[in-house]
Amino acid sequence: MSDSLDHTLKSVFGYGSFRPPQREVIQRVVAGEDVFLVMPTGGGKSLCYQIPALHREGVAIVVSPLISLMKDQVDGLVDAGVRAACYNSSLTAEESRAVSRQLAQGELDLLYVAPERLLLPDFLERLGGLKLALFAIDEAHCISQWGHDFRPDYVKLGRLRELFPSVPIVAMTATADPETRRDIIRQLGIERATLFVAGFDRPNITYAVIPKQKPVNQLLSFLKGRGDESGIVYALSRKRVEQVTERLQQAGFDAAAYHAGLPDRERSRVQDAFRRDDLRVVVATVAFGMGIDKPNVRFVVHYDLPKSVESYYQETGRAGRDGLPSQALMLFGMGDVMTARSLIENSDNAERVRIELQKLNAMVSYAEALTCRRRALLAYFGEQRDDDCGNCDICNDPPARFDATEAAQKALSCVYRVGERFGSRHVIDVLRGARGQRILELGHDRLSTYGIGAALSTAQWDNIMRQLIHLGYLGQDFSRFGALALTSAARPVLTGETRVILGEPRDLARTEEKLSRRATAVDGAH
Ligand code: ADP
Ligand code: ZN
Repeated sequence: MSDSLDHTLKSVFGYGSFRPPQREVIQRVVAGEDVFLVMPTGGGKSLCYQIPALHREGVAIVVSPLISLMKDQVDGLVDAGVRAACYNSSLTAEESRAVSRQLAQGELDLLYVAPERLLLPDFLERLGGLKLALFAIDEAHCISQWGHDFRPDYVKLGRLRELFPSVPIVAMTATADPETRRDIIRQLGIERATLFVAGFDRPNITYAVIPKQKPVNQLLSFLKGRGDESGIVYALSRKRVEQVTERLQQAGFDAAAYHAGLPDRERSRVQDAFRRDDLRVVVATVAFGMGIDKPNVRFVVHYDLPKSVESYYQETGRAGRDGLPSQALMLFGMGDVMTARSLIENSDNAERVRIELQKLNAMVSYAEALTCRRRALLAYFGEQRDDDCGNCDICNDPPARFDATEAAQKALSCVYRVGERFGSRHVIDVLRGARGQRILELGHDRLSTYGIGAALSTAQWDNIMRQLIHLGYLGQDFSRFGALALTSAARPVLTGETRVILGEPRDLARTEEKLSRRATAVDGAH
């Protein structure tokens, strides 16, 4: 079969080789299996259902939410000699009839439909009488309320599996955090689907996170190290965007602000100037970037904490589209976490709050991680990577490691003793034998773990607790004010079977010095 797939790839699409994991995906779909494909935009998802459509009997039904994209796809396929059509509200009555006729007579290999059309009882009945090659569900995250683009029409796609149990389903999305992913699988009824995650790595981007101290100065010193390269600085609010822009301009930088509160004219001016390389730095809210396709964005700075790992990935991904070395720098401060948390908690949709807090929590974990950034990032998307990248702040300057087994055992026991109902702060107080009123009221001064960690400072314990959370020994329940509980991974630590090796917290001054030295070295190399 492989040979004939190669032949189709070449003769119909004009490409010489498959990208991973296209071949394996295609083989599975041709064999009639369900597949769940998570790849960034531009990764090459389309071939994964287009080639199977040509290698299986019957017509492939492609569900896509965007009529304009549908038309482009179909035009491209028809040019390549594929029998494809679309069926949506943009067609005239006559065109609709023509498509219906082709469909009924088995003259189509691919039919693109909008979900609301597909699910009309009439249409479903018509499909029932046809041989179907497969269903391809593009932008599958639209089915999930966890995702960022929920569409009620998509929910009904769950019926496809019931109505057509033997037709394989290919679900595709570019942005799926683990929770959204589980939801897609459940709602589409594709529990047996093989999951493929690929293409998320952006090897030319160097990731770095520095503790936010004097952010304006940190930003200025970063920019000074970047020669005349251009880039984007993301900030949380309009007000902050304005403030930072002003400071940069005062310092002599060619910078402009961009946010949704500015007049359209000003926004297009900034966007155009940036695209034409007439403007070096855009300070922006997340509103900036949707339409930006500038290949030589050399850096993206997060002045404030992004609201989720997905947004961070998407925003940093605007750097280095040309494949040349680029920087992603984040300034990370605990104050931002508090701000973000209180903004989220302002909502009165409890489910939303829980979801957003989890996403924020994952973002904070990433920022605090003492492991390779790229591994952490790819792991978040579910793409496996077994080695450190050598191109992030952690790899370039690994933290010193220390054996924290004994401290971890103390911390884990203490979490257990306080009934797995308290957050990190309280656990640390108990460990250190603090004499606060709350401790006395709760009788926690009589616990066996009271005071057993007095030899370490609060900051040291803080570092240990965080890493125990990142490494998955402790779970944090944000619906219960961050109460810590043991996970199943904690047991072997408590019994002494697993040793716990943690990173020493970074020395801020040293990190900054290294960063600016490296920036200078890079400039010197030009
Ligand atoms: P996605 O749907 O994941 O956003 P597309 O399927 O539109 O991505 O593919 C993005 C681009 O990559 C398209 O121009 C496509 O023709 C091209 N492409 C996909 N697969 C290959 C391949 N194996 N070899 C060369 N180009 C490819
Ligand atoms: Zn790394």
